[in-house]
Amino acid sequence: MQVENVTYTEGSEDKQWGRKDFPWSHELEINNKRYFGNRSFRPNQREIMNATMSGHDVFVLMPTGGGKSLTYQLPAVCVAGITLVVSPLVSLIQDQIMHLSQVNIPAAYLSGSMEWQEQQQILSELNSACCKFKLLYVTPEKIARSDNLFRHLESLHRRNFLARIVIDEAHCVSQWGHDFRPDYQGLGVLKTKFPLVPLMALTATATLSVKEDVVRALGLVNCIVFRQTFNRPNLRYAVIAKTKNCLEDINKFIKENHPNESGIIYCLSRMDCEKVSEKLREFGHKTAFYHGNMDSEERAHVQFQWSKDAINIICATIAFGMGINKPDVRFVIHHSIPKSIEAYHQESGRAGRDNLPATCLLYYNYGDYIRVKHMLTQGATECTPTNLGNNRSWNSPSSNSNPQLTTNIENLSRMLSYCENDVDCRRSIQLAHFGEKFDGSTCNRTCDNCSKAVVAVENDVSESAKQLVTLITAMGQRFSVTHVLDVFRGSMSQQVKKHMHDRLEYHGMGKHLSKGVVERILHRMVFEGILREDISKSDVFGSISSILKVDDAKAKELFSGCKLIMRFPASKGNDIFDKPESVKKSLQPSTNKLNSEDSPSQAQVSVDPALSSK
Ligand code: ADP
Ligand code: MG
Ligand code: ZN
Repeated sequence: MQVENVTYTEGSEDKQWGRKDFPWSHELEINNKRYFGNRSFRPNQREIMNATMSGHDVFVLMPTGGGKSLTYQLPAVCVAGITLVVSPLVSLIQDQIMHLSQVNIPAAYLSGSMEWQEQQQILSELNSACCKFKLLYVTPEKIARSDNLFRHLESLHRRNFLARIVIDEAHCVSQWGHDFRPDYQGLGVLKTKFPLVPLMALTATATLSVKEDVVRALGLVNCIVFRQTFNRPNLRYAVIAKTKNCLEDINKFIKENHPNESGIIYCLSRMDCEKVSEKLREFGHKTAFYHGNMDSEERAHVQFQWSKDAINIICATIAFGMGINKPDVRFVIHHSIPKSIEAYHQESGRAGRDNLPATCLLYYNYGDYIRVKHMLTQGATECTPTNLGNNRSWNSPSSNSNPQLTTNIENLSRMLSYCENDVDCRRSIQLAHFGEKFDGSTCNRTCDNCSKAVVAVENDVSESAKQLVTLITAMGQRFSVTHVLDVFRGSMSQQVKKHMHDRLEYHGMGKHLSKGVVERILHRMVFEGILREDISKSDVFGSISSILKVDDAKAKELFSGCKLIMRFPASKGNDIFDKPESVKKSLQPSTNKLNSEDSPSQAQVSVDPALSSK
């Protein structure tokens, strides 16, 4: 991506920031112990504080739990004046203020939901000659909408009292991030008004495009970027084929590997949360569910019970997110496909904050991908019966002109290819998204793909792809992945026979290929844009079907010689076309809850024995 006027230097490699002889070095050490009770600094913390205290703008990329807060809270107590912190959620702010007050650091917050009088009290304290607050937290809405607050900030600044400006969860600025907040985009005004006040932007989520968006939107000047590896060596990763026995598998996995330990199960819909919770409860686990349809008291109660270990397992939608700080989460299970690799990294990253081993399992089938894709087109963050049952195809012109939707769908397709990838190291795929190179050989078999220890080979699948295009066109572009797959592989099912008179000559063209291989080819063709899925609600029960269509322009490229190369695991024989059965042991057919007729079938993922039985 080409970006103008964005300049920054990488700070992590610059030795000067690690020095211990800055004028404030001693005070940092003392106050780190005195206020925060820490014996030392974590990686990059000292460097970040030295850079910001030297007056530079700083961009901090550090995984969740890495200790970002300290890098502005500690400087705040070491220098005169007040540190302004913008944070997206009142609950996050309250949590921080509570921690700060426990260690006697005076801090306050302003949010739109507060009583007018309470706000006035805080504002008048800001006006006083010796304001007692060291930190002032505000929501982005406050910055965008309160002239009054702005006047007070200007007054603080005039009196040399505005020590630092902090934008926490800075990825909310970017539409590429997964928590986009429009009011964050207005935060550039802070740099415009207070150009000389050092600014810090912190986030745990930043692909290259997010980073550049943030730097630009906030107007950071020659900022120094501190980036820490997003690799989480203590987490093990696996993608598992989701079958109708998914909950039994999960039960077994937990009982065998994490009995009575803490975990999160992320579910797609509110209804799924409740169902999964109930079923696991029947299996004897202490569970609760958590989703956006519950009032805040109920949610707080569930979270509290969980933090106190009265409940072990929370079955939640992504509403259960930011601000979860439980260190000893031993497993995070995704009951269905997450919305993006970033979201997956963040959600699975809630496991093992204490740096002890933890497991991240992702149950995947293609049907869930279709559901999520549908959900995205409805603009929903959580899946509810209403937004699942809305009949709108997303290849309608409106989706083409909606860049946010296009981005979301792109992010989801990347997640899809992560799930379908059964050769590459999970860590290297994840980290590549954060612009980080990871040498798969250092994974130490802590992901399903690495522990399979199979070599991958590249196969040219262009011929099969062309045949599929021909077949889909000949059949009138009105069938689902499953049906196309069945016809291509020569199935004699009722459904196939019913339409066979259509185009007999194409029946069984790909019978030498395994089902999983054909599926991967089809999905890849969708990913490449050669095929398109038109998705719509197909009947009154709200079930969803996907119809494969051909993109003429892309198909033309294929027929004029563009190659489609895919990687497959090389087991005994190493050509998928010779030994389809050796490519993958076949998996049980899945029953799809949404639509039995058009059921997108089982994708090519395998259960890694090393992970499922520790
Ligand atoms: P982040 O914002 O990066 O997700 P936090 O700032 O919330 O992380 O910190 C996560 C946890 O790490 C907190 O419980 C905090 O007290 C702890 N922590 C931070 N820095 C240190 C340190 N230097 N030594 C020990 N614990 C630390
Ligand atoms: Mg934080
Ligand atoms: Zn690996």
